[in-house]
Amino acid sequence: MLSFDEASRRLLARARLTDPAPVNLADALGRVLAEPRVVAAVDVPPFANSAMDGFALRSADAPGTLRVVGEVRAGTGSLPEVGPGEAVRIMTGAPLPPGADTVLPIEEAIDDDATVTVPAAPSGLHVRAAAHDTRAGDEICLAEALTPASIGVLASLGLGEVQVRRRPLVAILATGDELVGPGEPLEPGQIHDVNAVALAAAVVDAGGVALPLPRVRDQAGSIQQALTRAARDADLVVTSGGVSVGQHDYVRAVLEQYGSLDFWRIAVQPGKPLAVGELGGVTVIGLPGNPVSALVTFELFVRPLIRAMQGMSGDGRHHLRARATERMPKDPDRRAFLRVRAQDDGADLHAMPAGGQQSSQLRPMADGNALLVVPEGADAAEPDQHYEAILLQPLALAGR
Ligand code: AMP
Ligand code: MG
Repeated sequence: MLSFDEASRRLLARARLTDPAPVNLADALGRVLAEPRVVAAVDVPPFANSAMDGFALRSADAPGTLRVVGEVRAGTGSLPEVGPGEAVRIMTGAPLPPGADTVLPIEEAIDDDATVTVPAAPSGLHVRAAAHDTRAGDEICLAEALTPASIGVLASLGLGEVQVRRRPLVAILATGDELVGPGEPLEPGQIHDVNAVALAAAVVDAGGVALPLPRVRDQAGSIQQALTRAARDADLVVTSGGVSVGQHDYVRAVLEQYGSLDFWRIAVQPGKPLAVGELGGVTVIGLPGNPVSALVTFELFVRPLIRAMQGMSGDGRHHLRARATERMPKDPDRRAFLRVRAQDDGADLHAMPAGGQQSSQLRPMADGNALLVVPEGADAAEPDQHYEAILLQPLALAGR
């Protein structure tokens, strides 16, 4: 069995960055810049402007009563000169007119239309200096997925389109004679295919594009054909089921015969039979069939890989420390990722089992919000001990 760390390292070593492609800023949410360093070509803001609706004037003239000689609105290009003893009505965002060095808010002025009476005002009051947000030549580093704020920064720099990494196309292939699509009736012995849709959702959640393939039966030939086609179309292939030691588990054998197998057993609970290899030049990750095992191993191994293919780091999750509320047994030979509900109790975080921990029990994973990481060597999470918790959903607050 390969350790968790070694398996992660070997898998991430396979990450190849996807090609850059142009995208309009309007479609850039969650995308990753192909070149994270952006050099500002312009000052932001490009000119000194007013932070308030009020009067632009010379600070030397305040306090006093000043003649109102004009108005400047946001968007105005031609500006009146503010001479001694004069003021100009100004709106938020309007350029500071020449001569003025300060802005007095309308609420603090006595406005008599032709004149305005103002209290003392220091120079620079309510004036936004040119380039106070960004100066031309500044280097801005946006290395992670673009957020509304970082998209806003790019827009403020005047960029309409940016080069981002293409989202990896991830083929999903569920294997198993017993599987029937959700929505279809079950014959005796059959179950609904959970993994095809759950893994496709996990691909999207990780920033990839899911390419669902028609489900295949436990037959080496069908699996080989499906994998060969998937490798032609996709950047990464993820299968579920058929990687264990059963008589009808063919995914590994197909990889060995038609491509190559890097490793296939990892010291992770749930998810021991994870197979990683290559076929047709594309990485194939064979996830175990149990839906919990498939989703947990996807989270731990496939999600970071999909992110790395776009230049993102890590898994994009919060890793916190949480106190186990009770004993939760595990396999001492493997690192366990228990499905828990992590809650903030005001002083500390605590983690309680979200339900049964068998890999065929999916509901606790949906009810929980975190994976509690219990290291190799331990035979349980012990009550009142603290462990790493990987937050998959928002933290719960006590009493909710
Ligand atoms: P396997 O990895 O093929 O040995 O499957 C392990 C367990 O997961 C078996 O009980 C399968 O019936 C179940 N299983 C496999 N694939 C799926 C799937 N796509 N959806 C739901 N359960 C599955
Ligand atoms: Mg099977």
